[in-house]
Amino acid sequence: MFWYSSMIILVPALLLTIYAQYKVKSTYAKYSKVAVRSGMRGADVANAVLRDAGVSVSELTPIPGNLTDHYDPRRRALRLSEGVYYGETVAALGVAAHEAGHAIQHSHSYAPLALRNVIYPVASIGTNLGQVLFVLGFIMSWNQMLMNIGIWLFSGAVFFTLLTLPVEFNASRRAMVALANGGYLEPDELKGARAVLSAAALTYVAAAMMAVLQLLRMIMLSRRR
Ligand SMILES: [Zn+2]
Repeated sequence: MFWYSSMIILVPALLLTIYAQYKVKSTYAKYSKVAVRSGMRGADVANAVLRDAGVSVSELTPIPGNLTDHYDPRRRALRLSEGVYYGETVAALGVAAHEAGHAIQHSHSYAPLALRNVIYPVASIGTNLGQVLFVLGFIMSWNQMLMNIGIWLFSGAVFFTLLTLPVEFNASRRAMVALANGGYLEPDELKGARAVLSAAALTYVAAAMMAVLQLLRMIMLSRRR
């Protein structure tokens, strides 16, 4: 049945996802063992990078979990996983500077981030509802209208994952520049931080590829009458 055989186009994205997950875990683990010579913690560097950029956040707090680090634009809150917040390692400082990069993007109204925040409500609904409507349309002997609505809703979600790419790459670029200019990491340490951030970026590339291929599959299925 074409429903199942069409899944084969998702395989490259699936493989990339698995590889990216492995890469981010192993790279993070490796550089979480490399202590920085400055003796700074992730939280110290996040503070320093924000100060250098003249940007303030409402809170900078540790949160439980591994790789749970994020910047919440609604509350202007920078939350770092405990390992990053307290960590005096190359991985911790790289991630902390990256998250600070998101806060700087927000304060500078960086366009892709602003656009992403606007379409977030649509995208978060579109991911699931789009697929549900599409499957319903498919089951109801090719209800073309339902399938089309599903495809349009899911397109919003795809656009969101694509917009995530410039946002993430830009935050990492800002992080690397800030870490180098501030002298928070030495050249050999910078290489490690770059490796961690590149591995993290790969997970977003994999997610975007998966979303695009899923959309492509939906379009193929809807045309297969
Ligand atoms: Zn990020």
